[in-house]
Amino acid sequence: MKIKNSKLREGKLHHAYLTDEQIWRIFSSFLSSKSVKQSTYKYALMKSMIENLYEVNGKLELTYDQLAYTFAKVYWNLVAVHGITQHNPGSRNAKAATLVLEEQNKYNIPQGYNFDKLSDAIQCDLIKNIKQKAMKENVFGALYGDTRGNFYEFAHKGEYFRFDKNVYTFMLNYQSLLIQLTNYHMAKKIEELNGRAVDYLIFKVEDITKRGTLKPFEKILLNHFEKRCFYCDKELTSGKRHVHVDHFVPWSFVQSDQIWNLVLSCSRCNTTKNDKLAIDQYLEKLQIRNEKLITISEPSIQTKISNYDAGKIEKMYEYSRKNGFDDFWTPVYM
Ligand SMILES: [Zn+2]
Repeated sequence: MKIKNSKLREGKLHHAYLTDEQIWRIFSSFLSSKSVKQSTYKYALMKSMIENLYEVNGKLELTYDQLAYTFAKVYWNLVAVHGITQHNPGSRNAKAATLVLEEQNKYNIPQGYNFDKLSDAIQCDLIKNIKQKAMKENVFGALYGDTRGNFYEFAHKGEYFRFDKNVYTFMLNYQSLLIQLTNYHMAKKIEELNGRAVDYLIFKVEDITKRGTLKPFEKILLNHFEKRCFYCDKELTSGKRHVHVDHFVPWSFVQSDQIWNLVLSCSRCNTTKNDKLAIDQYLEKLQIRNEKLITISEPSIQTKISNYDAGKIEKMYEYSRKNGFDDFWTPVYM
């Protein structure tokens, strides 16, 4: 019997104490076409959960707004940047895609304009609409059903979302594989729904949540810290020794842009480090840097670092190593 779960307003966790093997089985059927919902929603929700894995509080909770931010970004970039418009089979397209098109038309925003570049007001408007009209209607409840109440619990009242403890640890352990599986299945679904091959689709899907620019973070870091490369300590000038913002734990692993994982670097270090982890003396250095960051009472910083503790960056570093990022890098001093 199929249960109509999409209209659920809340759902509790089953607390089934699943083994990794059982969790893999649920993930595989959830991501493949076997699951009830055939739209691209489940992949967008997966991306939202992954982007927020290190944003949880001590009880593994997230807010709807945190998840809706990623969700809105995914649909904006797919629809308004890449022109991929079909996200649901049949005559009625996914509401999230329709909402993006409405917003784009309302403000006359040209095709190709990245989500990051939208004004705060437009971003907020879109996030709110997508949360209310798409996620609350057809995402949280439907996908709760697809995962048989094993992955998360949620309640529209209080806009509450919480990971199952075992599933959360599983996601940290296998994050890289889950990212790849999500991207593969999402790309496959998009081609199927749009009835055509989309150029460089897998790359587009991979980078869909990636920021167009890290400039806002660069500004904050330049305002409060010495203009030196975090790694080689060379002075950073605005001239040819260009300032770069580097994801200490690579973006390809974390898929998110926490300020506590971002450092200023010279172009040489940034390019040679690329997708690698720096040796662990830099982890300590970053923890010390972050201690300073916490003490700065500017609201723009406080909102970005409120969930941080030194254990988080350590965990992120450890889990990236476990996920295969074990090719360590050290700067070449010149
Ligand atoms: Zn450097």
